[in-house]
Amino acid sequence: MFRIGHGYDVHRLAEGRKLILGGVDIPHTLGLLGHSDADVLAHAIMDSLLGAAAMGDIGKLFPDSDERYRGADSLLLMTEVVRRVREAGYEIGNIDSTVCAQAPKLAPHIMQMRENIARACGTDISRISVKATTEEGLGFTGERLGISATAVCLLMPLTL
Ligand code: MG
Repeated sequence: MFRIGHGYDVHRLAEGRKLILGGVDIPHTLGLLGHSDADVLAHAIMDSLLGAAAMGDIGKLFPDSDERYRGADSLLLMTEVVRRVREAGYEIGNIDSTVCAQAPKLAPHIMQMRENIARACGTDISRISVKATTEEGLGFTGERLGISATAVCLLMPLTL
């Protein structure tokens, strides 16, 4: 009756793009490349929700071949994911997530990300955790080539 989900996503960093994480437009010299707004944190969270409900993934729901999703606000897509998850009989117990980025410093933006995600999910901020870490200069996040995010969530039956 309780369902655990996991999500993972990566986007490449590029010049001339916005850096949107958890719906926060973060000032930085580079931004994330993608068909939508490339909010890698929102994408990992959505995939954890869909995974918990065994409802596929966002690539299936919102294909990047579909022009409707060009530049899409990922938090609006998240609201749609949560609507579908509720329709399937589940509500969010909690979400925990981690963003891996060498730069910029994300700590000042964490609270706003949590607020945005909680609003998009129609749930309380106490159920939404966002953490940030670096990978100590190692790998593609360490070399500032991209940013990754992971998320886990717990879904509970709506009747509880
Ligand atoms: Mg993505």
